[in-house]
Amino acid sequence: MDIFDAIESEVRFYCRSWDVVFERAAGSTLYSEDGREYLDFFSGAGALNYGHNNPVLLRPLVEYLLSGSIVHSLDMKTVAKRRFLETFQELILKPRDLNYKVMFPGPTGTNSVEAALKLARKTTGRHTVVSFTNAFHGMTLGALAVTGNSMKRQGAGIPLTNTVSVPYDGFLDGEASDFLWLQRALEDTGSGLDKPAAVIVETVQGEGGLRAARESWLRRLSEICHEHGILLIVDDVQAGCGRTGTFFSFEAAGIVPDIVCLSKSISGFGLPLALVLFKPELDIWKPGEHNGTFRGHNPAFVTGTAALENFWQDRNLELKVAGLGAQLHEGLTQIASATEGARVRGRGLLAGIFYPDPSAAGKIAAESFSRGLLVETSGPNGEVVKTMPALTISAEDMRKGLEILAGAAAAVIGEPVVWRSVA
Ligand code: PMP
Repeated sequence: MDIFDAIESEVRFYCRSWDVVFERAAGSTLYSEDGREYLDFFSGAGALNYGHNNPVLLRPLVEYLLSGSIVHSLDMKTVAKRRFLETFQELILKPRDLNYKVMFPGPTGTNSVEAALKLARKTTGRHTVVSFTNAFHGMTLGALAVTGNSMKRQGAGIPLTNTVSVPYDGFLDGEASDFLWLQRALEDTGSGLDKPAAVIVETVQGEGGLRAARESWLRRLSEICHEHGILLIVDDVQAGCGRTGTFFSFEAAGIVPDIVCLSKSISGFGLPLALVLFKPELDIWKPGEHNGTFRGHNPAFVTGTAALENFWQDRNLELKVAGLGAQLHEGLTQIASATEGARVRGRGLLAGIFYPDPSAAGKIAAESFSRGLLVETSGPNGEVVKTMPALTISAEDMRKGLEILAGAAAAVIGEPVVWRSVA
């Protein structure tokens, strides 16, 4: 028994599926201590959009640390924080005509969601938050209350209240018109629905099965929120920072949420950092009302600034992601077509395959690992093979990863995948 199995809690998760000891990583490749190479279609669950140890981020980080610059400073003013805020404003907010205040909560996605929920309730004076079937927003109590997964909800140990779950796009397989219940319930004072403070939504459900909301669906949701004075929170923790092709995943739909949650790849390097963005009129926080020791860590500001400067000055990365996305979706479509009822889900580089046999995806992910590829599963029963390669992956590594996945899928389902190269 190794030290991990001996003393690390039973709660450990990823290390059970990928039971090797990782030592080094570069770009889209991880190396275990016994020298094996693994191609990365997981990207730290979306925290490594620019790959591992990207030199354009690593260099300024090392220089910063060696120069004696300040590392920890709570939310004090620092040179690194000023550069990050200026760069975020110049390269992200201004070109998109977004007028948001920026808040640094604790450095995780779930903390960003907690802050967003608190602020929505505080500004509206209402308590109910509408969330969606199969949503995932994090593991702390407020975020769990808007999360769908029953196993994760049960972990709370107390009732998760003040929320209402409604069908996400595609949940009813087109059998009912979108938002029928929500609209009626909001309009009918006898519906029993307390007027909500906010609606919280992912544009693509990263953990809940990779369903991607249609642009028209998101626009309608935004309109309903607007009509009823309900705040719209987009949780862009996983789908943001370029994952679906644009910096914010909601840009294609042309909506402007009231509150946006960002984390995972906002530091670019895998260092913990989270942001909450909100319209200025919502900024009614009292100083220190949502405090924390690690709010805006300077090394994360340094790599976050370098990521914005290197990847978001122009549209090159967006164009690259569009090309890689087409390659990925073509490969996934070929793999899915070998199995009756299997379907490609997702958007951009957050995509995968739904299998009607819920055990298939887990077996394909395990088989992929034994062939040198990291892919995980998604969905309430782990029924979707989920791929999330780095936005900086080469077309050659994308092809290699898809070929491994195709081989693993063929081995598991016992049907050959008819494979045309997707270079
Ligand atoms: N929101 C979304 C959409 C997520 O995908 C995640 C993490 N998978 C979270 C929130 C929570 O982020 P964290 O694990 O950093 O708390």
